[in-house]
Amino acid sequence: MHNASTDLPEFRFSPNAYALGLFESAEGLCQACNTPRTMRYTSSFYSREEVEYICPWCVADGTAARVFDGEFSDYAGIDGVPHDSRQPLTVDEAEAREVTTRTPSYPSWQQEEWRSHCGRPCAFLGDIGSSDLEKFLHEPDFRADVEGGLGWDPELLRTELSEGGDLAGYLFRCLSCGAHRLHVDAG
Ligand SMILES: [Zn+2]
Ligand SMILES: [Zn+2]
Repeated sequence: MHNASTDLPEFRFSPNAYALGLFESAEGLCQACNTPRTMRYTSSFYSREEVEYICPWCVADGTAARVFDGEFSDYAGIDGVPHDSRQPLTVDEAEAREVTTRTPSYPSWQQEEWRSHCGRPCAFLGDIGSSDLEKFLHEPDFRADVEGGLGWDPELLRTELSEGGDLAGYLFRCLSCGAHRLHVDAG
């Protein structure tokens, strides 16, 4: 089988996008670049128009977001983007826009949130369950996320958090210092 993976665009804020199934093999015409492609984006895209087929390149270079005036993730869901637009951003604005317009989103129960660290959006790594929390608890900021920082009962997270389950955990990693962050979402 031809392995085209080396030709595919990479996403620094979603480095595992292909392994996580955020794209699937499917023949079709990309609606953003009108080019026949063999791989299609499968996760969220918020736009006025219903878009069925976006190729990886049109996610990565911002073409899909521009052509359809859409975004893959909610800008206001990124840590450091204030809900009151008169307040200053505490996250790099260009990188936050890269997350919303040039980075695959991830499937979640509710509106996805995007963790930040060191003033930058983190990379989304994938799902995480209770049994894997331990690995990162020595990191102060991750521990704070687990121990009530996100508004969840720590005991519940230590026992019920599952990968893609009703109480779903999502793992992020800082691109500057490597610290991990957690997002929790309930179905
Ligand atoms: Zn395309
Ligand atoms: Zn950091």
